[in-house]
Amino acid sequence: QIEEMMYLDKLNMAGQMAASIAHEIRNPLATVRGFIQHLAEDTQDKQFKKYSPLIMDELDRTNKIITDYLNVARPSKFQLSLLNVDNVLRDCVELLRPFASYSNVSITYNESGQHWIKGDVQYLKQAIMNVIKNGIEATEGQGSVHIETKVNPSSDRIVVTISDDGKGMTHEELKKIGLPFYTTKSKGTGLGSMVTNKIVREMQGMIEYESEQDKGTRVNISFPLSDKN
Ligand code: ADP
Ligand code: MG
Repeated sequence: QIEEMMYLDKLNMAGQMAASIAHEIRNPLATVRGFIQHLAEDTQDKQFKKYSPLIMDELDRTNKIITDYLNVARPSKFQLSLLNVDNVLRDCVELLRPFASYSNVSITYNESGQHWIKGDVQYLKQAIMNVIKNGIEATEGQGSVHIETKVNPSSDRIVVTISDDGKGMTHEELKKIGLPFYTTKSKGTGLGSMVTNKIVREMQGMIEYESEQDKGTRVNISFPLSDKN
């Protein structure tokens, strides 16, 4: 028990440090990007014109890594309140619909009633959106992502299932998901699943991944149900 507490203490300290470092880095980064963009518009220098988009791409990538990381960093920012899972899921689907149709993926969501849990709406949205996004990105060509909820009466938990028919993962790949910076995408950060796992855990949730190569992936996320009253 004591060991567990010390470990969490260190995690919090590291998280708070990461958050302030991230904040300090983002400001100068934005300044640098602004200047590069400004100079690139004015210059006649062919080399500079050619390479400035690359510089900006890399700056954007750095910023994305920092932004994703910043979100894991502050455990104290979690605001737990009674929330409706189905509303959150509906929002996630609507927010990602443009990205999905751009990627030729159809999203379907089977609503099955009203389910209440204790959690943080913003963080939960982020966690679910990371998973749906991965589902969309896993499909090459056309595909579909399906979301549904089910109550497990024996455990009083709500289970959110997000499945896709994308490229799936091997056993080895599956073991690496959630490790910081593990990514197989050219523009990935490898932080999405880590952030999701952390958020889910923070809300007494559990997450499990099932996957089969060339068939697809299914992610089950469960939370203890709360009484609305
Ligand atoms: P990122 O999306 O930036 O790569 P994530 O942590 O979200 O980082 O995912 C890590 C890796 O796990 C992905 O690069 C991908 O290889 C694999 N992965 C995650 N979700 C899926 C999925 N639904 N289908 C196939 N592979 C997945
Ligand atoms: Mg991702």
